[in-house]
Amino acid sequence: MHVLILGGTRDAMNLADLLLAAPQFTATYSLAGRTRRPLPAALPTRRGGFGGVSGLQQWLSAHHVAAVVDATHPFAAQMSAHALQACRALGLPLVRFGREPWVAGDGDNWQHCASLSAAAQRLISHGQPGQRILLATGGSTLHHFDHIHDRHFAVRCVDPPQPPPRFSSWSLIEDRGPFQLDDERRLLREQRIDTIVCKNSGGKAAQAKLLAARELGIEVIMVERPDIAPADAELFDSPSVLQWLQTRLATALSSQ
Ligand code: NAP
Repeated sequence: MHVLILGGTRDAMNLADLLLAAPQFTATYSLAGRTRRPLPAALPTRRGGFGGVSGLQQWLSAHHVAAVVDATHPFAAQMSAHALQACRALGLPLVRFGREPWVAGDGDNWQHCASLSAAAQRLISHGQPGQRILLATGGSTLHHFDHIHDRHFAVRCVDPPQPPPRFSSWSLIEDRGPFQLDDERRLLREQRIDTIVCKNSGGKAAQAKLLAARELGIEVIMVERPDIAPADAELFDSPSVLQWLQTRLATALSSQ
């Protein structure tokens, strides 16, 4: 049974490890190709877009894919929508490897925004000139903030942003998760951060900044998730996804 994993997340990598050890499956791992130095997945990997829904359909048919796992990031809404449309058109099962969103707890000072533009608006309406902002929304999102000129942006991303942002004051923190609490605490202190802007990605790898922000009384502007197209099932850990695939395989074999 050939499985396509739509990846780009640590969860997807963990699932790739599990599938490699499951002899009843062959699997391909797919990356959008955004990062220059992607972490190597255990499985045969393809890179780059499929060319929209029709391109994905063609790829799935040509490679005799029997099931698709959407393990993309919670903000990768377009890829998830394309996966749903292509799988529906071909009658293929689709499972979403989901991630629970973060929820504010006691001592958190979170402001919720529906979009990156709303987060930028919030900085303008409620922030102060000279504010020092950790911008952890990803290198491709910086243009949403580039009309704000009287703040300092500490931009954290995997690769240096191209083109460079047009902020009047900014610094680059080139790094990728998982991040540890001690390091996040140190970063926020050293950079004298008073506000964090981030996406509600969920998961453990990027959560430590929120715990450090709570300790240090730092405001978090939390960009909430877009709606994601529903799959046949949504599961939250790789053994459950593997189990779901095994059930599908058993059903397919019994109907032959
Ligand atoms: P997106 O807006 O949903 O997707 C845009 C286009 O990129 C898709 O239509 C597709 O092109 C291509 N694409 C996306 N994921 C792909 C995959 N796994 N394999 C092959 N093509 C893919 O996605 P995005 O927000 O740009 O994110 C791109 C990738 O980075 C995703 O795989 C995601 O898991 C990962 N990522 C995203 C974020 C985030 O905040 N968005 C954070 C961390 C990691 P075609 O239409 O040509 O097929």
